[in-house]
Amino acid sequence: MKKAIVCGAGGFIGSHLVKALKKEGFWVRGVDLKYPEFAPTAADDFVIADLRDPVNCRYVIDQPFDEVYQLAADMGGAGFVFTGENDADIMHNSALINLNMLEACHRRNLKRIFYSSSACMYPEHNQMDPDNPMTAEDSAYPANPDSEYGWEKLFSERLYLAFGRNHGMDVRVARYHNIFGPEGTWRDGREKAPAALCRKIAETPDGGEIEIWGDGTQTRSFLYVDECVAGSIRLMRSDWTGPVNIGSEEMVSINALAEMIMGIAGKRVNIRHVPGPLGVRGRNSDNRLIREKLGWEPSETLHDGLAKTYPWILQEVIEAGLAPPEAVPAARTGT
Ligand code: NAD
Repeated sequence: MKKAIVCGAGGFIGSHLVKALKKEGFWVRGVDLKYPEFAPTAADDFVIADLRDPVNCRYVIDQPFDEVYQLAADMGGAGFVFTGENDADIMHNSALINLNMLEACHRRNLKRIFYSSSACMYPEHNQMDPDNPMTAEDSAYPANPDSEYGWEKLFSERLYLAFGRNHGMDVRVARYHNIFGPEGTWRDGREKAPAALCRKIAETPDGGEIEIWGDGTQTRSFLYVDECVAGSIRLMRSDWTGPVNIGSEEMVSINALAEMIMGIAGKRVNIRHVPGPLGVRGRNSDNRLIREKLGWEPSETLHDGLAKTYPWILQEVIEAGLAPPEAVPAARTGT
């Protein structure tokens, strides 16, 4: 039986990745500071461990694994990454995890290790025009990420590639672009735009008002989590090292994203634009390289993914007692 280890298995993408690997028949060890918040882990073995400590990394890498997925990171959405308040933690914690995990894998002679980088490593100056952002993989240099989170990702990408070159490891580096879906963070300050907007719309009665950071014309693309997991596994099994974008090319403004969610929710709310942490003006995945090298691209629309995500967040909002009765559709209350 093949064995995989998923670091960050208590998090959003990691917990979905564990499920996918289990479906394929892998024996899976998950590692994280915490268990998954919204559903029991599907892992055969789950180790609660702080991967900033090299002893813990050596402890979890105690046997041959066919596939090592390193997704653990100190991260969050704009409200976590762009305020500046968490910069030291973001850089220090995530860099330590990556340094220690690579060293532990190298000591054990484990070869195949996947690293989840981020589109946040692309230069800010190529993402000022919301209609025309550039994220071709070879546009990464000269480097100028807009956040310390992006700088740490860039450093760690280079670290993985260096271990690949110098120690004969088959590293695989993906640059994720805004992943969303059920069982993701939706309210603790680390949530991202799709989850935050689903929550705000779920909490608000028809005709009410929600806040959006900035003027809402900033653009992004969003990838449904199952697609992200499928693309990651495909990259892991390929002979292409990367770095390569894993994202969607369906770019929308944040205002348009809110409109789409309102349509799915079956209600209209007014938007009030307020100052807030924003990041770059525009970002979209450029999938030319992944199409060429892996023959892969997302198969679903943003609307399809949101139609699966909104009901999950609505249910969470209701269970948390955050939705006043007038915000909950009649079908959900049984009236
Ligand atoms: P997440 O925060 O849900 O998962 C990360 C997990 O890492 C968390 O469960 C956290 O507890 C764990 N972790 C943090 N510090 C740790 C430590 N010291 N030891 C052990 N575990 C630790 O995030 P996610 O959305 O699932 O993202 C997974 C990976 O993908 C991250 O590396 C992230 O930077 C990258 N990424 C995500 C997105 C996205 O849109 N979600 C976009 C680009 C890149």
